[in-house]
Amino acid sequence: MTFEPRLIAEADVTAPQDPFERVAEIDLANVRHNVKRLVALAAPAKLMAVVKADAYGHGALPVARAALESGASWLGTAHVNEALPLRESGIEAPMLAWLHTADTDFESAIESDVDLGVSGWELPAIAQAADNVARTARVHIKVDTGLGRNGATMDRLPSLLMEAAELQAAGKIRVVGVFSHLAVADEPSRPETDDQLRVFREAVEMTEAAGFHLEARHIANTPGTLSRPDAHFDLVRCGIGLYGLSPFLDQSSEDLGLKPVMTLKVRVANAKRVHADQGVSYGLNYKTHEDTVLVDIPVGYADGIPRSATYAPVMIGGKLFRSAGRVAMDQFVMDVGPDEDPAELIGEYAVLFGENGPHVDEWAAACGTINYEIVTRISGRVPRRYVDGGWGLTDD
Ligand SMILES: *Cc1c(COP(=O)(O)O)cnc(C)c1O
Repeated sequence: MTFEPRLIAEADVTAPQDPFERVAEIDLANVRHNVKRLVALAAPAKLMAVVKADAYGHGALPVARAALESGASWLGTAHVNEALPLRESGIEAPMLAWLHTADTDFESAIESDVDLGVSGWELPAIAQAADNVARTARVHIKVDTGLGRNGATMDRLPSLLMEAAELQAAGKIRVVGVFSHLAVADEPSRPETDDQLRVFREAVEMTEAAGFHLEARHIANTPGTLSRPDAHFDLVRCGIGLYGLSPFLDQSSEDLGLKPVMTLKVRVANAKRVHADQGVSYGLNYKTHEDTVLVDIPVGYADGIPRSATYAPVMIGGKLFRSAGRVAMDQFVMDVGPDEDPAELIGEYAVLFGENGPHVDEWAAACGTINYEIVTRISGRVPRRYVDGGWGLTDD
């Protein structure tokens, strides 16, 4: 699945609150709450709101605006193509994009004042792009302090700094930051974070010794921000925390003082009585144990519901039920037991997760994945509805 950043026009954000058959409600008041909490925790370091992947499925533009209104200082995206629409929408805050390919539009990034993460190979391409548009590119050197993914190794860093110094002297680039990314900050007892921080401090020293004046040294993601004050430096880059979700397996949103932002709810499509031993959904892996009521929930893997979900929780009319059988492309089924009235269930809202429903973490457990993946996967087939402080859970 390709991920196009979904641009939400201002008009969409304030659109009349039509009823939706299926909807991901995004509570911007909760974004603001979470941002204030993270800003307070990170201070005096500043907060970069990470809004990549359409703000983890929540909508990049409305989340970016809410985050900046409530104290975030920077925006971060993986791709340049995710940052540019935010600029075009008039956002003036500093922005950083860090994951590039040979096709990345560095010229537009530089013209739009989007800072660029540099792992190594990008530097000549960025300098050439700066030359083409007669501007100076602002770059943050990315160091691999142990994640083994993007970033310059410590072996490569000295030569990269030398290249950067030459290009800076020629006015093509300015090195304004050094950054890295943590590998195991979600497991605070692991020792590797200490190793990464030690290497990072060394990289910062080397960069400063090479004569660069850094505006921003940054390594902490949400778990690093929450569990490692010594990782805050000048700036923390938070994604999952903005969305009110915990990066830790043994701590909930509530434990961390965060409020989940997305509620996924959908109208029940069908409900009917069936006999015992009725097979359910493709593969007939689930068989009813007794005469019962089956409910059809009209979202499936095309909507971003993982096909791996088993016994996933759904709340209907304040009661908790579990999914039965395989998730299909457009729908999945719940066995709600013999005592429910099918006629009453048809047209009810089923809340998969969020306000007045199960927690995203329960869906993550039911799918063998993490909460990040559950919200980020919710596809463009599901309209987003922006609310500000409270949901309309009634049949509005
Ligand atoms: C996604 C990402 C983040 C945000 O991570 P969270 O765990 O969601 O806070 C920070 N930095 C980089 C480089 C990232 O790719």
